[in-house]
Amino acid sequence: MVETRLIDGKGFAEDLRRRIAGEVADFKASTGVTPGLAVVLVGEDPASAVYVRNKGKQTLEAGMASIEHKLPATASETEVLALVEALNVDPAVHGILVQLPLPGHIDAQKVLATIDPAKDVDGFHVVNVGRLAVGAEALVPCTPLGCVMLLKHHLGSLAGLRAVVVGRSNIVGKPVAQLLLREDCTVTIAHSRTRDLSEECRRADILIGAVGRPEMIRGDWIKPGATVIDVGINRVEKPGGGTRLVGDVAFDEAQGIAGLITPVPGGVGPMTIACLLQNTLTAARRQVAAG
Ligand code: NDP
Repeated sequence: MVETRLIDGKGFAEDLRRRIAGEVADFKASTGVTPGLAVVLVGEDPASAVYVRNKGKQTLEAGMASIEHKLPATASETEVLALVEALNVDPAVHGILVQLPLPGHIDAQKVLATIDPAKDVDGFHVVNVGRLAVGAEALVPCTPLGCVMLLKHHLGSLAGLRAVVVGRSNIVGKPVAQLLLREDCTVTIAHSRTRDLSEECRRADILIGAVGRPEMIRGDWIKPGATVIDVGINRVEKPGGGTRLVGDVAFDEAQGIAGLITPVPGGVGPMTIACLLQNTLTAARRQVAAG
């Protein structure tokens, strides 16, 4: 039986945010520039409102400027595009994040494509997606960046390890696979049409769950000693009433099999905003260097 250790994403993210705050202070002292993150929220989605509030709070705590634009759900696509264009040319704004999902009448791809790639701190613009794919300097999506930071911190070099990523979304599965490839892993991307998914998973030294299905990845799908990164955030009913959050991996079953595992909550989740702050500082540095 393997001793399963927890990956403390919450603690790691706190350390990272402290480190970023120190770097922001140095950057401000040497350049006179305060990195600024603009967040655009359209509509009243309660979960999005909570994310935006947390982002704003942590941005300020890191010593950066937080600029929030809240538009009503009735805002037109033209209004949102005009706001993004204004932020693109605002020198106080180094990072732009448009909170998804957008109301149905607004074409999210069109909005993302309008963001200046140099300010695209979510890394969703096709220019950054392409740069990541060809191994050029890119702004990389935050959650995948957080996963790979946790892996490198715990495993050191990832070269030669077999990684299986379950999920192929543009925001998690594909970019995390690209990052693992960049770390010289042998990468398999699995999805809803994959045959013998459990067999694929059992080959993984690094298993990433990014599916959005509660506890779909069972304990006996995990190779003994493997490192498991659970990106899934799923709210499920508790037997006695109320709800709780679970990941895509059956966490209890993984005990005694996985070598390392991220809990949900407290694993990958907290890394996302920390990496957003990191990307904002990176974007500010590059913009100042480019004049
Ligand atoms: P998507 O719904 O966009 O993608 C889910 C992926 O899982 C798809 O590629 C889909 O395959 C695949 N899939 C669905 N069912 C199965 C199945 N039965 N077997 C194998 N693969 C399957 O989700 P996201 O990538 O946006 O998010 C994934 C999870 O991560 C969610 O729980 C989300 O809440 C969480 N998340 C957490 C974040 C954080 O920690 N901060 C940030 C972002 C997401 P196919 O392409 O074939 O349909």
